[in-house]
Amino acid sequence: MDDIDNISCLEVLDNLYDGIYYVNREKEIVFWNKAAEKITGYSKAEVINKRCSDNILRHVDDSGHELCCYGCPLAKVIQDGLPREATVYLHHKQGHRVPVIVKITPIYNANHKIVGAVELFSDASNTMNVVREIAILRREVFIDQLTGIGNRKFADMNLRNLFENQEFYGIPFGILFIDIDNFKHINDEYGHEIGDRVLVMVAKTIASSLRQPDIVARWGGEEFIIMIPKIPENKLLEIAERVRVLVEKTWLDIEEKTISVTVSVGGTMYQETDTISTLINRADQNMYLSKKAGKNCISIDHQSLSIGQNQIKFNQESFQQWH
Ligand code: GH3
Ligand code: MG
Ligand code: MG
Repeated sequence: MDDIDNISCLEVLDNLYDGIYYVNREKEIVFWNKAAEKITGYSKAEVINKRCSDNILRHVDDSGHELCCYGCPLAKVIQDGLPREATVYLHHKQGHRVPVIVKITPIYNANHKIVGAVELFSDASNTMNVVREIAILRREVFIDQLTGIGNRKFADMNLRNLFENQEFYGIPFGILFIDIDNFKHINDEYGHEIGDRVLVMVAKTIASSLRQPDIVARWGGEEFIIMIPKIPENKLLEIAERVRVLVEKTWLDIEEKTISVTVSVGGTMYQETDTISTLINRADQNMYLSKKAGKNCISIDHQSLSIGQNQIKFNQESFQQWH
């Protein structure tokens, strides 16, 4: 306690860019630099000789726990002499919270006795903003602005993950390629804006028909892709049929009219020799077979799938279709 008043270079510390304060063993603040005043809004006169536990700064952690009451890092450092570092939120005099990175070190006297602790803290607002901006950027990069579901980049990223998981852990997966039937007609008949609303309706219907960990993305225009990890082969049809029926049974009321669309679906399972493009092409070609068979149906390229009631055999060797 006696030695803490004799710390030298206080003038230098006063002019540091980072906030600094010292507390003695009683946790009374005995030094408060200019940066501390700037970051917290509290002047030296307002805090000197006040105790941390007077709760001026009322630090809280990420989960909102008040550190002065529970687990004050300063008190811990004074107790065990171990330096600590943390990101916490202090209470600014104006009321708002300021994120700060704090580094606390013990202060020893000549007899190696802990006489207090020094806390160096820097305003982390910019760092936090960067984190937030990155989150926003990620959103902008991977989300389709019209429909709010993942975009093609998002699909690519997930396909790469699925390929890696297959390679390393042997986890099987399948995909469904979905194309809205006669969509050009919707645009021509009702205009582009209504066309957009139909796209949103279909995207949301598909998304809500899926379960974790299935992933949907807008592949482009009026095309969507669903990626289904860990799926046994015979389940692909079940999911495809759920999506097909739900879209068919969804509609948009525009003034006097009711607009409804259907989708054609092509499904395929990952095969060992596949690349992303061969996989997508196969699903796309299967989707195209659904178009040729009259639209609003599913085509899947594997024989061992369970057979739906209204099955049409399209290709004896390896092809099956369902309406
Ligand atoms: P098919 O049943 O054979 O798939 O016929 P289709 O009319 O659905 O297919 P086509 O490829 O002829 O037309 C797709 C249309 O989708 C043309 C394009 O203008 C429209 N489209 C693509 N992207 C958008 C979009 O973001 N908004 C709207 N409103 N229309 C879009
Ligand atoms: Mg298309
Ligand atoms: Mg289409």
